[in-house]
Amino acid sequence: KTRDDGQKKASLDAWVTHYQSYAAKGQNASYIPALEHINSSQLGICIAEPNGTIIHSGDWEVPFTLQSISKVISFMAACLGCGISYVLERVDVEPTGDAFNSITRLEMHKPGKPFNPMINAGAITVSSLLPGKSPQQKLEVLYSLIEKLIGKRPTINEEVFQSEWKTAHRNRALAHYLKETGFLESEVEEALEVYLKQCSIEVNTKDIALIGLVLALDGYHPIRKEQILPKEIARLTKALMLTCGMYNASGKFAAFVGVPAKSGVSGGIMALAPSSTRRVLPLQGEFGIGIYGPAIDEYGNSLAGGMLLQQIAQEWDLNIF
Ligand code: GLN
Repeated sequence: KTRDDGQKKASLDAWVTHYQSYAAKGQNASYIPALEHINSSQLGICIAEPNGTIIHSGDWEVPFTLQSISKVISFMAACLGCGISYVLERVDVEPTGDAFNSITRLEMHKPGKPFNPMINAGAITVSSLLPGKSPQQKLEVLYSLIEKLIGKRPTINEEVFQSEWKTAHRNRALAHYLKETGFLESEVEEALEVYLKQCSIEVNTKDIALIGLVLALDGYHPIRKEQILPKEIARLTKALMLTCGMYNASGKFAAFVGVPAKSGVSGGIMALAPSSTRRVLPLQGEFGIGIYGPAIDEYGNSLAGGMLLQQIAQEWDLNIF
């Protein structure tokens, strides 16, 4: 590690300590019973650089479930498996300004095509498009892409899965509606099983920082030295993260943070910094960012995590605009 890495680590440590105190203003997601009792004052971050350097701070190693961050991975896997145009015939790329689990606009916008893959309606549809007949086969496609990205086979948090499976009334309603309109390509319960299991995949901030890094590098994995995703899929995914990744706070994030990011209700944020030679110190190249802070705000985004990301983006001049 260089002296620069030491400076970056010292900055992260100071910011994590500072923003941890803001977590008390948020609350854990309680509609998924298993998430309610997690220690809400946690905050951690990991940064992954193309040369393999990993810089971390705070509760960076604590495992948490992907939740909506999985929507990014299933979208990439569906595009890889069926092609971009096939996927985009079934899910649009328009932000909604509605909550992630909103039902209202599906019917208003005939014929009921989901607005984007980052809201639940779109993500459940995308899960049904994954190659394979059974939920197990579809999940296998997802697991193998994740394994390529993070270098280890992912596992599911069974308690979180069961907890959500039993209470997923709204997601069931969305899936039934999507089945009726013909956008869902598998049976309702099967699509839900894939979607809720992908949401229950356990990761830590380093894992999602690595995925962010591969996206920052347009699909190239610098450690495997391999192009994992075509550039077109990586760019489309980043555009969706920027416009829809933080739900109905995506506009504010684009305006005040200015990097592609995707959150999940368990408190994770996967973000990335593209390359910029105009940036001042300490980082000019691309890097991936993983953040975890389970106390979320009214939009469903990690409260302290979002503030931490904003601070980093400002201090390190990451804004893509
Ligand atoms: N599993 C969650 C749900 O479907 C994911 C939502 C989220 O992270 N915003 O409600």
